[in-house]
Amino acid sequence: MHIVILPGDDIGPEISAATKRVLEVLDEKLNLGLRLEEHAMGLATLDSHASTLPREVLDAARAADGVIMAPVSTYDYPPVEQGGINPSAHIRIALDLYANIRPSRTRAGVHNVAADMNLVVVRENTEGFYADRNMLGGSGEFQPSEDMALAVRKISAAACQRIARVAFELANRRDKHVTMVHKANVLKVTDGLFIREVVKVADEFPDVRLDEMLVDAMAARLIREPGAFDVIVTSNMYGDILSDEAAALCGGLGLASALNAGDRHAIAQAVHGSAPDIAGRGIANPAALMLSAAMLLDWLATRHDRPLLAVGADLLEGSVNAALADSKNHTPDLGGQGTTQRFANAVSDHIQSNARGNQA
Ligand code: ATP
Repeated sequence: MHIVILPGDDIGPEISAATKRVLEVLDEKLNLGLRLEEHAMGLATLDSHASTLPREVLDAARAADGVIMAPVSTYDYPPVEQGGINPSAHIRIALDLYANIRPSRTRAGVHNVAADMNLVVVRENTEGFYADRNMLGGSGEFQPSEDMALAVRKISAAACQRIARVAFELANRRDKHVTMVHKANVLKVTDGLFIREVVKVADEFPDVRLDEMLVDAMAARLIREPGAFDVIVTSNMYGDILSDEAAALCGGLGLASALNAGDRHAIAQAVHGSAPDIAGRGIANPAALMLSAAMLLDWLATRHDRPLLAVGADLLEGSVNAALADSKNHTPDLGGQGTTQRFANAVSDHIQSNARGNQA
């Protein structure tokens, strides 16, 4: 399996190095056949290639079986004409990564606001209220006069159908429960279309229970009854907000993992940004990127019918959980005094001892 690693900016290189290291240990122990190839990008290539996403890096990402991409600091990039491409947005569009899959679960040893939660938000990633991606030309936001501005929200049957299918396939492998979230009491036409398409896909999955909730009710219910959900399928902006809420309920940004997936490509990307305030200090929490990498291994296992990769994904997530269970490994964002290196060592040690246990 050929995996391209893009180290990003600020804390990106620190957490991607830690993630690469634990993947190497995992590969050595389980013989997964991983080929990890790192490509510089972001501010690191702005001077040398006059671009934050050189053409050859995009080509490498497209040619790979999967990509792990650390966060980038787009705020510090020059305008596009001067090479400041937003790598994250650009790759998502170029590889048609329409599903943003964001799990949130409580983990032992971590301070959780929610007592018990294990859910996945499946968020449509290519349209909705996002002005940068819902028009062929120009922006989906415009200002006809000084004191008036408009935004267009795009919902298409094809996009609803394919995101629904991702959600139902996922639920089929989990607790067989999908909740579709919308605001169809107000947005009757667009969210009405979303509901119509999700219900159509639901017919293909008779074993999966389908519920629906209004997005405002969902925001409240996540707090009152976080354990009531399995897979939540929703459009772009609702999904962004609800997944951040879910992450905050169980451990915060340092643990929030994500996979951006299409039919042929997938990129593991932590939900958090490049955290310039702590960059270079060796204290960034690498757990979110490691858990995202585990999601990528699981996706590759299904796509290439390689069950051993799913074993690797389980072992990696289990080892991150084991490291989190001991507060001595906690980085400052989790209230501890640990370092990125210490966390990576704890995960590696756990992979080693568990893999030995498996072989015994
Ligand atoms: P962006 O807009 O690029 O997503 P942001 O402004 O939302 O970024 P982040 O970069 O995600 O912000 O950081 C928000 C806060 O969370 C910062 O204080 C940062 O230090 C902290 N943080 C984010 N990721 C991590 C991490 N992996 N480990 C430790 N702290 C983190």
